[in-house]
Amino acid sequence: MGNVALITGASRGIGRAVAVRLAQMGYAIAVCYHTTSDKAQELVAELRENGHTATAFCCDVANSAHVEMMAQAVREELGEVSVLVNNAGYAQQKLFTEISSDEWERMIGVHLTGTFNTCHTFLPSMIRRHEGVIVNISSMWGQIGGSCEVHYSAVKAGVIGLTKALAKEVGPSGIRVNCVAPGVIMTDMMKDFDEETLQSLADATPLMRLGAPRDIANAVAFLVSDEAAFITGQVISPNGGMVI
Ligand code: NAP
Repeated sequence: MGNVALITGASRGIGRAVAVRLAQMGYAIAVCYHTTSDKAQELVAELRENGHTATAFCCDVANSAHVEMMAQAVREELGEVSVLVNNAGYAQQKLFTEISSDEWERMIGVHLTGTFNTCHTFLPSMIRRHEGVIVNISSMWGQIGGSCEVHYSAVKAGVIGLTKALAKEVGPSGIRVNCVAPGVIMTDMMKDFDEETLQSLADATPLMRLGAPRDIANAVAFLVSDEAAFITGQVISPNGGMVI
């Protein structure tokens, strides 16, 4: 299989850990970010210092024209993408009745349309080459629903549905599509939660701790690897046992 992996939302948190892990597996890394150019460039520098190949690409995944431009730039700079990790995203806690239609649309735009845009852009080349692995990052809230996160839960459930249907469609073309649905993972996404809330979330987790980005990166690395060669259309949920 080719050796270029593109990770959306790779400047921080889970995406960053996935980028580091896949670089260690020998992939040249396309670091897709949206606003934090400094963080993306820091990661690229760190990867290169460690002997890996990496380049940063700015893109709003919700915008199909941005994704097309990014794909062109990645092809020119690194080559054809064989591994696509759709990780870009954000959370928002709000009562359902307070979610505006703009907030609803943006949530769908980044998570669901964003995943559509990248898959739509990179799949034709994967199908032609008869190779490729896609890993979509959902959430345990997409599996069970989260109060005050209806729009987030809805799009993350949508990502699971997209994964399953796409896996059936492109399996015969030699492409695997899987989903990782993380539990609570300590990233910037959790920065607005106070210590007490974080402790109560850890207490509600059978493994008695919150997750780290590397917990998710390890699951993604497994799904990308040949060890998962017979796995497609599945959802793995590293959540410490919070959802069983
Ligand atoms: P994070 O630390 O806040 O990082 C989010 C990443 O997504 C950043 O790299 C950000 O880029 C990028 N991003 C956001 N909007 C984007 C857009 N429109 N286009 C391109 N990139 C965009 O979040 P995280 O916790 O690592 O979350 C990563 C994924 O895991 C998300 O899909 C999230 O829903 C999912 N998840 C997280 C948790 C958790 O507890 N942390 C649990 C379940 C699922 P910039 O840096 O450029 O802004």
